[in-house]
Amino acid sequence: MKRIPEPFRIKMVEPIRMTTMEDRQKALEGSGYNPFLLKSEDVYIDLLTDSGTGAMSDRQWAGLMMGDESYAGSRNFFHLEQNVKELFDYNYTIPVHQGRGAEQILFPSLINRVQGGSPVFISNYHFDTTAAHVELNGAKAINTLTPEALDTTTYHEWKGNFDVDSLKQAIANNGPENVAAVIVTVTCNSSGGQPISMANIREVSAIARGHNIPVVIDSARFCENAWFIKQREKGYADKSIREIIMEMYSYGDMLTMSAKKDSMVNIGGLCCFKDDEELFQEVRTRCVPMEGFVTYGGLAGRDMEALAVGLMEGTDEDFLTYRISQVEYLGERLRQGGVPIQYPTGGHAVFVDAKLMLPHIPGDQFPAHALANELYLESGVRGVEIGSLLLGRDPETGEQKPSPLELLRLTIPRRVYTNDHMDYIADSLISVYQRREQIKGLEFEYEPPVLRHFTARLKPVK
Ligand SMILES: *Cc1c(COP(=O)(O)O)cnc(C)c1O
Repeated sequence: MKRIPEPFRIKMVEPIRMTTMEDRQKALEGSGYNPFLLKSEDVYIDLLTDSGTGAMSDRQWAGLMMGDESYAGSRNFFHLEQNVKELFDYNYTIPVHQGRGAEQILFPSLINRVQGGSPVFISNYHFDTTAAHVELNGAKAINTLTPEALDTTTYHEWKGNFDVDSLKQAIANNGPENVAAVIVTVTCNSSGGQPISMANIREVSAIARGHNIPVVIDSARFCENAWFIKQREKGYADKSIREIIMEMYSYGDMLTMSAKKDSMVNIGGLCCFKDDEELFQEVRTRCVPMEGFVTYGGLAGRDMEALAVGLMEGTDEDFLTYRISQVEYLGERLRQGGVPIQYPTGGHAVFVDAKLMLPHIPGDQFPAHALANELYLESGVRGVEIGSLLLGRDPETGEQKPSPLELLRLTIPRRVYTNDHMDYIADSLISVYQRREQIKGLEFEYEPPVLRHFTARLKPVK
């Protein structure tokens, strides 16, 4: 497996602290066996998320110094608007504080436009805040992901695709007049950072447009998705990443973006429209009370400048090749050590299949969370559970909902950890794998009523 050297030099460093097994045992007990409650100082390598955790480049830091902090009409806004136009050919730009800010100001307007009485959104897979904003506004979120995504062990190139038949059926069942939007999530975070093919985006867009349904592209990892299209899809090998992005966005009508991922800022987001000026005006009006005036949307001028630069840097092909190969390298090392993972690896994370690895732990004892704790104890590496603990209970019956997947997500921040860190992570998890039979499940000591995974306190079962 080829290791691609980091395509950057390190100009500034942040020390991280190695702890002892004893320190970690104490820290884990103190945090109720919930890595979310650990102090980051007690974490050696933090793989909780790739959101807002990337390292900015020297150009981005230089951009911070060029902040124009005028309340209205900051030059950094116009720079951002210009880069959006250049990358996506979208005419109207609203900056927002992060991805959910865009969802918050956009979705009510899409729902208002629905002709029928019961609005729904249909996506390959709604990200959790996306589903939350759909539901907070009284609409329903329907996922129509390709079934191959649920089979972690079999290679499939496009585990982020829509299942086109399910999409058509969902439109027919709900009536096209009730569909507020089709949301195309690139890459599909919830299935493991898995890409969606250009052919699928094109087809889904044609179906939506045939029914006059707007297409929203949820754009957190648009560069990584474009890179996969270039690698895997016939006819794209000779196209540049920028050309691929331009084609992807020609199939959308608007975009929401968490710029904390591929666009490599610590905070920021976008809500942009291709040519629907009326919708843009309406959403912009909502931006003012919710996010801030229309030329800053909750961001400082300097943050908009860092974003304008990061938006373009994220499209660099050499960087993307290194980035996605680093994730793949970690995945391959784990596979060679016997650890079952979502295969092939996606863009931003390796997802370990805890259901396969720890078959002796039932879903309601949270196998992936138990694995996260064990990896932390072994090594100081912090991952995160995506499974039963996150999914929660059925609100009607109070029973734990059965989770189709129990995954431990090892999310790789951009430009932060080196390939040596990947080896350390792989060695640690492989040694946990070798004593997997001894790992115990967990039960609640305190279970919060909502969003329980963030603040729950647990203990190992006897
Ligand atoms: C992160 C993310 C969001 C939400 O963005 P925030 O910046 O965290 O508010 C929405 N959709 C996808 C696919 C994401 O990955």
